[in-house]
Amino acid sequence: MMKDIATPARTKEILQKHGFSFKKSLGQNFLIDPNILKNIIYHAGIDKRSGVIEIGPGIGALTEPIARAAGKVVAFEIDGRLLPVLEDTLSPYPNVTVVHQDILEVDLNAVIEEQFADFDEVTVVANLPYYVTTPIIMKFLMGKVPIERMVIMMQREVADRITAVPGTKAYGSLSIAIQYYMDAEVSMIVPRTVFMPQPNVESAVLRLSRKATPPAFVINEEFLFKVARGSFVQRRKTILNNLQASLSQGKAKKEAILEALSTAEINPTRRGETLSIEEFATLSNALYEEFGRSVN
Ligand code: SAM
Repeated sequence: MMKDIATPARTKEILQKHGFSFKKSLGQNFLIDPNILKNIIYHAGIDKRSGVIEIGPGIGALTEPIARAAGKVVAFEIDGRLLPVLEDTLSPYPNVTVVHQDILEVDLNAVIEEQFADFDEVTVVANLPYYVTTPIIMKFLMGKVPIERMVIMMQREVADRITAVPGTKAYGSLSIAIQYYMDAEVSMIVPRTVFMPQPNVESAVLRLSRKATPPAFVINEEFLFKVARGSFVQRRKTILNNLQASLSQGKAKKEAILEALSTAEINPTRRGETLSIEEFATLSNALYEEFGRSVN
């Protein structure tokens, strides 16, 4: 039986064999702890009927246990230097396909149609490159990609912001954008020591599960997120001030903003961080007629 890829000794051996050097700019921090991997697979809840999309397989540390558990894995890796390495390390797993592509360029709906037609459900499992965590998640959510779950490692600070509830410091437009689509919970906090090289910050595994229905009716989702972003630009200011500054011609259209706030039954002196997602939804609907046309 071959030793797991994700041990310090085997990882060093693989890196040496292929003369691989880490690229910090690509967020390359590889997992070297089999116990963390077991935990990730457990939280992913995958079995042989599951298809899995992995982002950034690296040298295959996480791909290996996913391949053992799932029916099929398609892994997207941006760094071409890793392709021969993966061909070597993942050769025992015929159910893995590695694609040399930037995940942000991938047509995800087409991948699911072409690669996972035979599968009941598709799950995303990844130790994400931290420099693009948010764009990657939003690509899956806003693109209406039919995935049930994402179990993803990221910086702890970002996971805290995604899962934050109203009235807390961490709550903001990212919490709203993601919780609009998904239930979000931190599955585990991960110390720096399980990576090679060690990142500067603590990490967390986040589990996102698709909400059966959205928390509120929204006329235009992009406009909801725009209103949410605009409401947090200056956290200490009131919702009225922030909307005046962020909406187009907001300064001149104070009355229209006040009217929308009144329709949504939101006191204009409140701060954005106190509004629930449902309140943001009602507010964005009330503002849409006057301010939303430019979004699409
Ligand atoms: N999954 C491996 C592990 O856990 O050991 C590696 C994780 S490492 C944090 C992130 C990986 O994502 C690296 O292999 C990096 O080259 C790759 N990557 C970075 N940006 C990417 C992008 N835009 N699309 C696809 N892969 C990317």
